[in-house]
Amino acid sequence: MSQQSGKTYEMQWDCQFCGTKKLLGKTHRFCPNCGAPQNPDSRYFPSEEEKVAVQDHVFVGADKTCKACGELNAGNAEFCQQCGAPLTDAAQAKIVTDDQKIDAQAGEQFSSSGSRDVVKEQFDAEMERVGVTKRKNQGANWQVFAIIGVIALVIVGIAVALLWKQEVTVLVTGHEWSREIRIEEYRNFTEQNWHDNRPFGDDVIRGVCVEKQRSTRQVPDGQECRTRRVDNGDGTYREVEDCQTKYRDEPVYDDWCTWTGRRWEYERSVSTGAQALTPAPYWGEVSLRCAGQRSISCEQEAGRNESYIVIFKGDENRQYKCPFPQAEWQTVPIESSWTVQVRVVDANAADCDSLKRK
Ligand SMILES: [Zn+2]
Ligand SMILES: [Zn+2]
Repeated sequence: MSQQSGKTYEMQWDCQFCGTKKLLGKTHRFCPNCGAPQNPDSRYFPSEEEKVAVQDHVFVGADKTCKACGELNAGNAEFCQQCGAPLTDAAQAKIVTDDQKIDAQAGEQFSSSGSRDVVKEQFDAEMERVGVTKRKNQGANWQVFAIIGVIALVIVGIAVALLWKQEVTVLVTGHEWSREIRIEEYRNFTEQNWHDNRPFGDDVIRGVCVEKQRSTRQVPDGQECRTRRVDNGDGTYREVEDCQTKYRDEPVYDDWCTWTGRRWEYERSVSTGAQALTPAPYWGEVSLRCAGQRSISCEQEAGRNESYIVIFKGDENRQYKCPFPQAEWQTVPIESSWTVQVRVVDANAADCDSLKRK
């Protein structure tokens, strides 16, 4: 983020004694109507139409309020111009922040307001306005907290649902087994891929390529600026420009190509299995076309899978299936009693690792 300091303008303030509004922070150190000194706590930013520029402004620091007599003095004054007291530990004028603006200030003014009837009327009117604004703000805050609260509850709820388990007793009702032999065939292949993603295989050749979008990249695309007002604390403020570089997506193109070659590809499986202990597990018969040769349409074995499942019955006839090593699987008796951890929310999901023989 880059910053640029711009022009200086007068803050505005309201006289608390005669009620004159929109007095100028630098020009009117005293109320031109009643002569009361400017209270720095009553300063606020003017509206866009009422801005008054300050030419050749010399900043000497935020104003100081004399602790002895309450006189408002310039930031570089060492002694009070009214009573001569030293200003070493004088109170610095409060700085108005841009988003806080007038409303919050008026609220504070009211709480420490004086005793005059005129003043009170002024602030009563002011308070009504503030009251409305405050209620609006509180409503917005309450909504934000409510939304955050609901989101937090949902996250906790999901975590509990996923993690909370209870132990249940289950009975063995059956066995299953299955075995599979995977067979590959040596084939010609054609495949589309990026020019630098060479597929594996024999005699792989890159053919025709076309340009195609592969990704996007971020490129700078001008600046986004907003103006912020900074209270100088001496009855003036300056406008500061905050700028941020914007970015846009730009497509990145690359060569998308046709590749050809020869390789082993999955062709078929020889499967065996039963939903019982018998027949005992066995591998299927495999006969491979021109076995041992690396030429088109010849076959080879590509791997074997096997699984041995014990079926359990739980509460409300729920069924659970858990895998076992083959040696253990064939010794698990029907009707034997076990315990297992089951999710409380989704009772159909059992944690097979927690199985224990009773
Ligand atoms: Zn006045
Ligand atoms: Zn003084």
